[in-house]
Amino acid sequence: MVEPTQHCDVCGRKGPFSPYSSGIAPVTYGLCEECRKRGAENIGVLSLWLASYGGPSTAPDFRHKLVSCIDGEYQEWQQIHEYYRANEEEILASFREEFELADDN
Ligand SMILES: [Zn+2]
Repeated sequence: MVEPTQHCDVCGRKGPFSPYSSGIAPVTYGLCEECRKRGAENIGVLSLWLASYGGPSTAPDFRHKLVSCIDGEYQEWQQIHEYYRANEEEILASFREEFELADDN
């Protein structure tokens, strides 16, 4: 059940929305209609996905079709790439953390 008062996992707006499977990670979002229509991905999930390929330049080609929402604005690949570059250290740190946690199992 998705709570109607919950915030959209991508843009942060309040519902109504419904579950939507990420195209790049084993994650199910609660997305508003606009994010669903755009096929937008959560920027945090997207960043970790890029990190898992060693960065934006080496991620699979369909990266150019990805859409995300950064600070409430829908952004395409160019801005996602810039966001990644600007936050790379932080992204890689949390990527390593996730990797280590997974390793402990
Ligand atoms: Zn949304």
